[in-house]
Amino acid sequence: MSADASIDDPLLTPAQFVRGVGPVRAELLAKLELFTARDLLFYLPRDVLDLSQVRAVHELAADVVQSIRGEVVDRDARYTSSGKHMTAVLLKCDGGFVRGVWFNQPYMLHKFQHGERVLFSGKAKFRDKRWEFGHPNVQWLQLDDEETTGGVLPRYGLTEGLKMHEMRRITRTAVEDYAQYLPEELPQPLRDRCRLLPLATAVRQIHTPASVAEYQAGFRRVIFEDLLEFQLALALRRQAWKTPGRAIALPVTAKIDSRIRRLFSFQLTAGQNQAIGEVAADLARDQAMHRLLQADVGAGKTAVAIYAMLTAVANGVQAVLMAPTELLAVQHWQTIDTLLAHSRVQRCLLTGQLTAAQRRDALERIRTGSMQLIIGTQAVIQDAVQFARLGLAVIDEQHRFGVQQRAKFSAGEQQPHVLVMTATPIPRSLCLTQFGDLDLSTIRELPPGRQRVVTSRVYGEGAKKAWEFFRQKLREGRQGYLVCPRIDIAEDEDDQSTSSAEAVFRRVQQQELQGFRIGLLHGRLSSDQKDEVMSLFRDGELDAIVTTTVIEVGIDVPNATLMAIFDAERFGLSQLHQLRGRISRGKFQGYCFLFSDGTQVEGLKRLGALEESADGFRIAEADFEQRGPGDVLGVKQHGTLPLRSADLIRDKAVLEEARPVAFDLITSAEWHSPDYAALRHTVLTRFGRLYDLPQSG
Ligand code: ADP
Ligand code: MG
Repeated sequence: MSADASIDDPLLTPAQFVRGVGPVRAELLAKLELFTARDLLFYLPRDVLDLSQVRAVHELAADVVQSIRGEVVDRDARYTSSGKHMTAVLLKCDGGFVRGVWFNQPYMLHKFQHGERVLFSGKAKFRDKRWEFGHPNVQWLQLDDEETTGGVLPRYGLTEGLKMHEMRRITRTAVEDYAQYLPEELPQPLRDRCRLLPLATAVRQIHTPASVAEYQAGFRRVIFEDLLEFQLALALRRQAWKTPGRAIALPVTAKIDSRIRRLFSFQLTAGQNQAIGEVAADLARDQAMHRLLQADVGAGKTAVAIYAMLTAVANGVQAVLMAPTELLAVQHWQTIDTLLAHSRVQRCLLTGQLTAAQRRDALERIRTGSMQLIIGTQAVIQDAVQFARLGLAVIDEQHRFGVQQRAKFSAGEQQPHVLVMTATPIPRSLCLTQFGDLDLSTIRELPPGRQRVVTSRVYGEGAKKAWEFFRQKLREGRQGYLVCPRIDIAEDEDDQSTSSAEAVFRRVQQQELQGFRIGLLHGRLSSDQKDEVMSLFRDGELDAIVTTTVIEVGIDVPNATLMAIFDAERFGLSQLHQLRGRISRGKFQGYCFLFSDGTQVEGLKRLGALEESADGFRIAEADFEQRGPGDVLGVKQHGTLPLRSADLIRDKAVLEEARPVAFDLITSAEWHSPDYAALRHTVLTRFGRLYDLPQSG
């Protein structure tokens, strides 16, 4: 087992002493964070180059998969007689010329430069006196790839001074000398069940594959193990939480149910009712609920949260709701306080804004148990806050908090039920990882009568008309948000182009929105200032507010139906969807203008997704594929997952396979057998601390 291994573990041999490396190359490897023989073995290639099917021009044949190497000597685009756009690239190859063609993919043209060496793979036809590859797979070759005559070659990320052929030689040597020492942590029966190679074989096949299939099988094994260990950690965390007897059962009686439902002025949607049913079933058990409620913006998660909290209170325990910002905490407080106007439920708002005396009083009542319902910011998880009998914690907009914060409520013997809510739909692979230890409830529908926000991209001449429209709607009595990507006027020269809230605030009052009442709201104002602007806006004393993404979550002003977002291409799609969710609240049609300078074609194209779709679930998937996990969650550091080699986008399919294997495994008898000791140990070493796993395994 590697952790008890002494310094003699050959895998820990410093890279410098791996045959053929030496001190100079070792320094280059260190830049790639490759320090030991083990690191070299696990340095996964970015892709693989298949030169095994490379032919000379005279060897090409119709309708078989084959490859050809050559130099780009010509490229052009035109329309065919049937009206299709066609990109053609001419290669000069060993013994003649071949052509690659693509239909209706005009962007292919710009991918090729004269003189580049490329490899085409696919099927070819003989046409117009030449062999022609239709939509071939293309790989761009480097000098190093040229020096090799054939075979299947891994291609690695490199650093300056280190050549591809050197890297290949180094990993090959590492495989020859060290792969045999790799400990096998997946027992044979498990490998058989999941069609996994032994680790040493896998690593050998990754770095020195005889075929693409060998490479892929090796790759899959390494990725699978990474994801399996991660999923095992999530499964164990869930199991620890679910220990029977550690939570207080909070059943919903018919009387409680009808008393809560009476409070709402609306009929709950089918989706809300289903989520409530799932939550109620969890609450009724004496094992802690850990459930994620995800829904599209405006689907009405708050009602579900309120139902759960009042159930807890009705059962004689305390309930707490934690929101990520003060604005949001205040808003939840107002909603709930209004709803409970005629009720005796003892409630308080706990934020950093209380006076010392108010705070002392609130803490005292929380500690003695007379305070039943607590709403607040992160102030509610500070050590000074001691609950007499906490039965339920609801965390709104969970993606803004880290994993550990979620665990804070669960310290100690008695565990509260935990309901976590997210602002936007989360792509499935993120659900299975970032939130993979939670049960999932989803609300897909919006309350009836909601109108889809009309969204349009605005650039160039379009701006005049957009502003004209904006003013017209303000005159009709609607209100609007002007959202900017930053607060201050840029100090650095480069960024003068980006709209800052302060600059826009000044400008629109003199130009586009002259004569209207405009406010400024951003995260750097004091809470009092923020509250003031917000309440003026809510009361209709302001026509529009210039703001930043502080309004992204939760803000609910039904009369605000207009939104202009500046430099829209700087935001992620999910974030934009979330923002425009602010203006789909009431009975009036919402309009969202995405301002961009229109010069970045890709960015503009990306924004098109928002015009076309109102489905947050679809937008989230698109966003995830384009920008990765950190951006979707809106918070970079929490977007980083503790993975070694797997990539959630590339390895989605493997994740789906590994997850049920992990969840089944921990409840099976074999999991506790000595065969699994090494794997159990690895999971605890990797994730034990992060996920608070019981150390006995
Ligand atoms: P989110 O899921 O984005 O947090 P909220 O809980 O803030 O959404 O609800 C959005 C708005 O929809 C609120 O104004 C709320 O009062 C209203 N709402 C919630 N459920 C319903 C319903 N079933 N019918 C009508 N309006 C509803
Ligand atoms: Mg909400």
